[in-house]
Amino acid sequence: MGAEQKMNRVNFYAGADMDRVSPLRRDVDWITDQLASPEARVLPVWREKNFVSFLDQGAESFEIAWLTVGDASALANGGDPFVLLGEKNGIPYFAIDLSHLDEPEAAVLHGTFVGLRDVGGALAQSEGALLSYAKGLFHWHDRNPFCARCGSATMSTSAGHVRLCTNADCKTSHFPRTDPAVIMLVHRGDRCVLAHNRRNHLPMYSTLAGFVEPGESLEEAVAREVHEEVGIRVGRVRYHSSQPWPFPGNIMLGFHAEAESTEIAIEEEELVEARWFERAEIANAAETGLKLSRSESISRRLIDDWVSGAVT
Ligand SMILES: [Zn+2]
Repeated sequence: MGAEQKMNRVNFYAGADMDRVSPLRRDVDWITDQLASPEARVLPVWREKNFVSFLDQGAESFEIAWLTVGDASALANGGDPFVLLGEKNGIPYFAIDLSHLDEPEAAVLHGTFVGLRDVGGALAQSEGALLSYAKGLFHWHDRNPFCARCGSATMSTSAGHVRLCTNADCKTSHFPRTDPAVIMLVHRGDRCVLAHNRRNHLPMYSTLAGFVEPGESLEEAVAREVHEEVGIRVGRVRYHSSQPWPFPGNIMLGFHAEAESTEIAIEEEELVEARWFERAEIANAAETGLKLSRSESISRRLIDDWVSGAVT
């Protein structure tokens, strides 16, 4: 893969390669017709887990285990449970939340519910993106049963893409949230900074990351987070790419940041360790057993593209 192709590659959890048909979400007749289509596929989500089956047991690869509209309706908790994901090659794709069931697998035998992070890299990219899309939407539905403005109940509308306040005096529309976080590889010459976060019990080295605050540009957020976490001042900050991160509802905005100082002082509540790594040390990680961020993460992409020289 050439340097330019590498830079243009879509990150995992994006690339569903589907028409989201957003103008049709409010067209109730069109939605009804799609649900009646024998081709329609339904992606179930259960308590933030996704439904998959083994594609190849030996190779540990997975594929989405789809339901028919009929099967999904039989398991639904009444009402209008379908969320429209989109359409591809004339096939409509929906999702349904089955969290009300205690044992969903007893009712649907051909798959299993798993955490997306546990199977992420073992899915085709387009399927990983669909699971991320559905998981993110249902997480938002689950956390927004009441209007943030007046406290009344909200209801799902626009094929699951809006929650409307049911109070006639309020009627506020609430839209799905995705919260921006910056993630950055700090580098200087042939070295970069990686950190072992307290969230990971075993030493795994990854890039720094943090949430964007109100009234702050992305570049400012990068500089602030780097200084807070490792005490380094950064100069040039360059955007690389982004990645939907439905754990639970973020979009990761990836950067490379050039260090202007080298002394590290870690934020101990969040990090176990942070240090400078030589480019060669990272390039040889597989041989030396140095554990880096997961292969499907934007963190790894930022590291790999810097190590291979696609980013200078
Ligand atoms: Zn309200």
